[in-house]
Amino acid sequence: TKYILVSGGVVSGIGKGVIASSTGLLLRMTGLKVTAIKIDPYMNIDAGTMNPLEHGEVYVLNDGGEVDLDLGNYERYLNVTLSRDNNITTGKIYREVIENERRGDYLGKTVQIVPHVTNAIQDWVERVAKKPVDETGEQPDVCIIELGGTVGDIESAPFIEAMRQFQFRVGHDNFAQIHVSLIPDMHGEQKTKPTQTTVGVSRGLGLLPDIVACRLLGSDPLFPSTKAKISMFCHVSEAQVIGVHDVSSVYHVPLLLEAQGIVEYFQKRLNLSSLNIAKPML
Ligand code: ADP
Repeated sequence: TKYILVSGGVVSGIGKGVIASSTGLLLRMTGLKVTAIKIDPYMNIDAGTMNPLEHGEVYVLNDGGEVDLDLGNYERYLNVTLSRDNNITTGKIYREVIENERRGDYLGKTVQIVPHVTNAIQDWVERVAKKPVDETGEQPDVCIIELGGTVGDIESAPFIEAMRQFQFRVGHDNFAQIHVSLIPDMHGEQKTKPTQTTVGVSRGLGLLPDIVACRLLGSDPLFPSTKAKISMFCHVSEAQVIGVHDVSSVYHVPLLLEAQGIVEYFQKRLNLSSLNIAKPML
């Protein structure tokens, strides 16, 4: 299985979910089977008890799982049926670790965030990524992991650390990261500093973004000069910098990503040709 982590920086609600689903959709169009996991770093077990005014409506899965709306995006973009386990929360992970501890599974060891919580996260991701999500019953080729919140939050720290370790568990060819950042437009000038800062934070935590997805609030696309600057200051090539401006429908986002070569990038980066691809549909 290949994993693509989608993380975010600067602010939440910038379209991480849409970029994650769109990337999954594009890979599905090349004939790959794609699944998705959404990580919500809150202590609630699920979204069922959360105020819809704050978090949006609860999305209910076929198995009755009450989850974040993003799971609905994934089901529609990827044409899959997900289960409650495709939504990981801090609450679910801690519950599992505490239940293991009560059962004596840790054999008297001191139970810690590292390695016990971080291992529980990695085991959960690996287990759920392999679960079939369509009527063929086949194991997915690619798993998109969307990490809620922003990199550097206290809440997401155990997940970030788990993903840092996970790169070594699955190997470099099997793990890539998209980091979604905000490019504020100040009277026509596209500012890159927040993006430089958040990519720096991510790198400092051991997660090195392969794609820097730059969200622009407005209809202006990312200027070539802005792209060059981000490439220079964020230690990525220009091909790894992708602009995502506001579009009239979120279903246009896949086209935007495709036009900037995201599919070719991941094909090379994750050596996707090594998977047995049935037949390309693009
Ligand atoms: P996040 O996952 O970062 O919280 P979402 O993907 O849920 O963000 O997107 C937040 C909101 O922004 C959604 O209502 C979505 O429809 C909208 N949105 C996301 N990307 C775009 C875009 N490129 N153009 C216009 N609206 C967008």
